[in-house]
Amino acid sequence: MAATVPDTTDIDGGVGLTALMVAAARAIETGRPDALARDEYAGHFVRAAPACAGWPIRPEEVPEGEADPLWGRLGRYFGLRTRVFDDHLLESAEAGIRQVVLLGAGLDTRAFRLPWPHDSAVFEIDQEPVLAFKQRTLDILGATPRVRRVPIAADLCLDTWQDALTAAGFDPARPTAWLAEGLFLYLPSAAERRVIAAVTAHSAAGSTFAYEVKRIAETAAVRNSPVYTAARERIGIDLLALFDPDPRPDSAADLTHHGWQTQTCTPFDHSHRLGRGPRPEPHDALAANRWTFAVHRP
Ligand code: SAM
Repeated sequence: MAATVPDTTDIDGGVGLTALMVAAARAIETGRPDALARDEYAGHFVRAAPACAGWPIRPEEVPEGEADPLWGRLGRYFGLRTRVFDDHLLESAEAGIRQVVLLGAGLDTRAFRLPWPHDSAVFEIDQEPVLAFKQRTLDILGATPRVRRVPIAADLCLDTWQDALTAAGFDPARPTAWLAEGLFLYLPSAAERRVIAAVTAHSAAGSTFAYEVKRIAETAAVRNSPVYTAARERIGIDLLALFDPDPRPDSAADLTHHGWQTQTCTPFDHSHRLGRGPRPEPHDALAANRWTFAVHRP
């Protein structure tokens, strides 16, 4: 794959830049000898965006390794998250699900890199500038998705995304694997509630839903921790300013109330299981993170 530099209108502003941060982390993870996940496209997105000049995309460009709070520890967190949600989506496919909806897809390349059943469809919902940058970069690379891939530019804070999804060929009568990876942290709590309700309303029996949240408001000591400081000072991403300040809803409880079976774990559960990934530390910016996996059994 050989990339030149495409026009990058707007992905490098606001929350769109977080998609590039995750891409850089996935690129670095890809180069690790003990990679938790591999994404050969990730580094191309980073190199195509002028806002990411000087960001690392290979492990040797992170001299402190896992001790680096940003590209080491947080980066490894994103690698772990990618792997765990990859596995979850492929298990959903093995269970017979053929529709996948990525909410806040960002620079997710699962449609290109995972071994989906041939009759699957992957719907990617994100802001128009993010999807436009992604498409331009993929076109330059000549990348071909392994399955039907349907990008949908929409604002997930507005209810119109649901009609756009249906108009794009999504069939609510068929079970779906939904994923909100790195999305709800940025949405007002009322918007998260509406997304949860919409997912339920569009989920046939057997659908799955995996998502990430922060369970509790973080203390001042956590907010001052090196992960947040490094992201702000080194790459200009003020995560604490981007996270929505509302008290978070209990979406797992809402889902349970609407006929979903849910299981919630910490990232550290998976670091422990896989023998790689971040471990708890004092004043930990990852300690409030939870990953919920739900199955709809109305
Ligand atoms: N899921 C991707 C991943 O893990 O690589 C991207 C995660 S990135 C941290 C967050 C993404 O959510 C960004 O691509 C951003 O544009 C998208 N996003 C945030 N708020 C959104 C909204 N209201 N509507 C659509 N997309 C949104």
